[in-house]
Amino acid sequence: MNPLSSSTSRPHAEHSPSALKNYEACPSFKGRSGTNPIAEAGTRIHTAIENGDPSLLADEVERSLAEWCLAFLADNRGKKSVNAKLVASHQEVRVEMSVGDFYTYGTSDLVDLYDDGSGVLYDWKTGYGSVEDAEVNVQVQAYAFGVFARFPELRNLDCYLVLPRRGEITYARYARADMERVQLRISTIIARAKESAGKIFNPKEGVCDYCANQGSCKALAEKALLIGSKSGFEVPDNVSLDGTPADRAKLLKLANLLANWCEDTKKELLRQALEEGAEIPGYKLDQRRTPRTIDNPLLGYDAVKDLVSVEEYLLACTRVSMPQLEKFVAERAPRGHKAEAKQHLEDVLRGSGALRDEGVIHLLKPIRS
Ligand code: SF4
Repeated sequence: MNPLSSSTSRPHAEHSPSALKNYEACPSFKGRSGTNPIAEAGTRIHTAIENGDPSLLADEVERSLAEWCLAFLADNRGKKSVNAKLVASHQEVRVEMSVGDFYTYGTSDLVDLYDDGSGVLYDWKTGYGSVEDAEVNVQVQAYAFGVFARFPELRNLDCYLVLPRRGEITYARYARADMERVQLRISTIIARAKESAGKIFNPKEGVCDYCANQGSCKALAEKALLIGSKSGFEVPDNVSLDGTPADRAKLLKLANLLANWCEDTKKELLRQALEEGAEIPGYKLDQRRTPRTIDNPLLGYDAVKDLVSVEEYLLACTRVSMPQLEKFVAERAPRGHKAEAKQHLEDVLRGSGALRDEGVIHLLKPIRS
C-alpha cells in the first residue's frame, strides 16, 4: 500500500470538532462530502509528518510544509524536555466528547504526555485559510475536552495549531478546570444545531462557502443577491429555486451576471496586487504551483531516452489529441477520401478499445429572439 494513503479517509461525525464553528454560526449548516486537491495534499502531508519522513512526498512544496511542521515539533519538544520527560506520544488520537445528552468525536493529530501531568496537542493545518486563535477556537477546545476525558491524569494541555503555508502558529493553554465552560459551549452548539436546523439560518462568509445548502439556501440567496439589486440587475421577487418559470429565468440571468462579475472582480484585484502592489486588508499575495508538464513530447523523449523506456514514456503521456491524429491521416489520404480516412482511423481506434468518447456537458443557453 502507498504509505501516503494510510490516513486518506477519516470518518467524520456529523457535529465533528472541525465543523462546530460552522454550526455555531448557522445551525442549519450542512457539511459537504467529497474532497479537493488541497485536502488530498493535506492528507499526504499529515501522513508524512506521522511517519516523520518528508521524503515520502514527491512534491517539493508539500515536502517543505511537512519539514516545517517537523522542525517546529522537534524544537518545541526540545524546549519542553528541559523541565519534563516525554512519557507517551499518541498520533491520530480518537477523541470522544460526551457532552450532556450529546456525543461526538474527532481525531487529533498528535498528543504528547509528560511526567509532570502536562500534555501538548499539535494540529497541522495544511490549507491556505486562516484559523481562529487557539484561545477561542472551538475545534481546539473540543479536542482538549476529549483529551482531558481520555487521559484522567492530565492537568493542563498546551494546544498548538500549526499553519505551515501561512508560517503561523497559534497557541493556548487549557486546564482541566476550563472544561466546564468548554462543555457548555459544545453542548449548546450541538443542541441548537439539532433543534434549529432548517428553521434558523445565519448566512456568513467563510461558513456558507463550505455548506452543502449553498445552492438552495433562501437566506443566503436573499443576502448575497442584494448585490444584484444594488448593481441595477433585475432580482426576482422569489429567489428560491422552485419559483415560477419567469422567476427562475431571472434568477439564472442574475447568476450568470454575478458569476462573470465575481471572476472579473477577482482578476482585477489580483492584477492590482501584482502589478501595482495594492494592499487589500485581510488578504496577502500568495502563490500556488501549477503542475509541471512537458510541452514538446519529442524533445522530452530525446532528453530522457536513456532513463526510461519508450513504453514507460508513453504511459506518462496521458492524452493523445484526436484532432491532431485526424489531421495527419487526412493529409496523407487522396483527394476526396479525407473524411473516409478519418472515419477509418476512428473505427480502428474504437475497435482496439483505445478511443474513449468525451462526455457530454449540459448547459442552459439563452435563446436569442
Ligand atoms: S448556506 Fe444557508 S444553511 Fe448553509 S450555512 Fe449559509 S445560511 Fe446556513
